[in-house]
Amino acid sequence: MSSPHTQPRVWIEIDLSAIRANYEQVVAFKAPEARCLAVVKADGYGLGGEALAKALAQAGCDAFGVTTVAQGAALRRGGIQGLILVMGPTKPDEWSEALATELTLAVSELTMLQELEEFCAAQHGEEPALSRTLDIHLEIETGLGRTGLFPEDLRAAMPVLLSLRCLKITGIYTHFAQAERKRGRKYSQRQFRQFCSAVDFLKENGIEPGLRHVCNSPAFLTFPEFHLDMVRIGTLLIGQLPASHLGGRLKLRDPWTAKAKILQVRRVPAGKRVGYNGLYRTRTDTQLAVIGLGYADGFAVEPRLVPKGVFDLAKIIIKNIFLLCNIPWHSGSDNIFIGGHRVRVAGKVGMELTVLDVGQIDCTTDQDAMIPLRRTSAGSRLQRVYFDGEECLFPPCVEDAADKFVE
Ligand SMILES: *Cc1c(COP(=O)(O)O)cnc(C)c1O
Repeated sequence: MSSPHTQPRVWIEIDLSAIRANYEQVVAFKAPEARCLAVVKADGYGLGGEALAKALAQAGCDAFGVTTVAQGAALRRGGIQGLILVMGPTKPDEWSEALATELTLAVSELTMLQELEEFCAAQHGEEPALSRTLDIHLEIETGLGRTGLFPEDLRAAMPVLLSLRCLKITGIYTHFAQAERKRGRKYSQRQFRQFCSAVDFLKENGIEPGLRHVCNSPAFLTFPEFHLDMVRIGTLLIGQLPASHLGGRLKLRDPWTAKAKILQVRRVPAGKRVGYNGLYRTRTDTQLAVIGLGYADGFAVEPRLVPKGVFDLAKIIIKNIFLLCNIPWHSGSDNIFIGGHRVRVAGKVGMELTVLDVGQIDCTTDQDAMIPLRRTSAGSRLQRVYFDGEECLFPPCVEDAADKFVE
């Protein structure tokens, strides 16, 4: 942890104006009658859940999705209004907080429906008519195989659904399993048809299911006809594409820049081995720079387990042959930049330190390196610094950063 008045070794700059711009792109693309629920789970995909939600609320967003009651309650306490949908399964010990902070809960199991209704009724005593209700969205399992009521559960659920006194059904949804796959179209369409049958079944039995929503980011881009009453968007709002073949439809901005101070620079001769297992050897006279970032912070040049194509497969095979033969492997794909020059990681990433081969560029310890860092796995200890365009803000959620971070 950095002490007061020292600049962090590694920090992440987040431009909230880019997030608002992405939101506007999503709004322009969506079916006019569909609402946009911003998914801000996992601490806002690593960008900071509260900061992200506030920026989006500023841009007009009035619905948010999270995984847990704790995440939802934190948003509410932070002043976020409107719909907050807890999409993950919840446990009875979380329900009173959900009720107190007026969250909307996903009902993803038959037993949960009954228990939640009983819980809610017990909170209200004898006069449920006078008391608040708890809003629920029914999650229908159509092919992800994770959570959600099986369509065939609905028949068994009918008596309970028709006699709810405390719970109010305000939505119904499902979640796609293969929307980002080019070859997943048929699977998604089948999921969609199952979902529609479930909605029809409820309506035929006298239940108005409320907001119907199915789209995550890839389905949103692929199936405009699936937008229905609401779409649930996370990835696009943080400026990323769910899959490269989905590019070109929206002009997204990347709000995220991870930076690391150069802690040390040294000249070394050709043939110098670097890092654990000696996997890297310098080819020429060069300079090695050290940054204070490693795999403990989520900086892993993660092995991609499933090759994306023949080229990728060949690369992985060749790389592994090189490693087996103990020949140093130079990966040219590291997108690390110092002063506009591309540099690369030398050897294995350490726990908290990483060595860069910076060649002959002008490199000093006054400089920063720009680092590619996966948003959702970037360590939560890494300081987030919020900007609105060029202007540096320190929102309340990182207030104590202001005095920690003195240029
Ligand atoms: C994470 C999540 C989303 C958002 O998905 P993106 O592809 O990131 O937009 C939508 N719905 C559910 C249920 C999710 O868990």
